[in-house]
Amino acid sequence: MDLTNLLKYQELDEKLYDVEQKLTKSPARKRASELSKIAKNAQAKSTELENEAGNILKEIDDIKEKFEQNKKSLESLVSKDLENLSMEDLDKISSLKSKILGNLNYLEKHLQKHAESVNRILMDFNKTKKMYDEARRQFLECKAKIDEETKTLEPEKARLEKELETLSKSVESKLLAEYKKRRSDNIFPVVVPLEGTNFCGRCRMELPMAAISRIKDVGVITCEHCKRLVYKK
Ligand SMILES: [Zn+2]
Repeated sequence: MDLTNLLKYQELDEKLYDVEQKLTKSPARKRASELSKIAKNAQAKSTELENEAGNILKEIDDIKEKFEQNKKSLESLVSKDLENLSMEDLDKISSLKSKILGNLNYLEKHLQKHAESVNRILMDFNKTKKMYDEARRQFLECKAKIDEETKTLEPEKARLEKELETLSKSVESKLLAEYKKRRSDNIFPVVVPLEGTNFCGRCRMELPMAAISRIKDVGVITCEHCKRLVYKK
């Protein structure tokens, strides 16, 4: 079988393949995808921090309320007329007083700890926002670059596709179908020469002798390992 036209087709297709690679795997595209991940993570982190801050603020309100209650109790104890009270009552009041003072002390410490947490959250929040803004700025830069690349490469791609379409008419249809099937699986090059007497020219795996013996009649055989079409030069 004459493979000249198929090989010519592949030669032109290589140019298209290169353009496609440039379009899909450009460094700008890779970076843009990384940056969009960074921005997404920063957003998730911001939401997490907002929730955390909300919970702490609720707890702070709770502590403040308890603080006020204890303060009021203490004030009412202090303002009590102690003149007519028994020794026993005085003892009770005294121990209640120290208990309330203990509560106030405890609440104050808690409040301080929470205030520190709020500060930490604010700091984290600012850091996260900066990270997001920077990722977004760089992302827009990348996007402009990608748009520029696309603008130059798309017409080239369209031109090559048109040329290939014309050239494809000279390739045997069944062979072309086999070729296109592999090409759409992102296998390239699709057609490779036999290496030595029985090795795939691409992946170097040994091909079965039974298949090699058919190569002259059928033109190409499939490498079971890399799925490429192997021909004999
Ligand atoms: Zn192979």
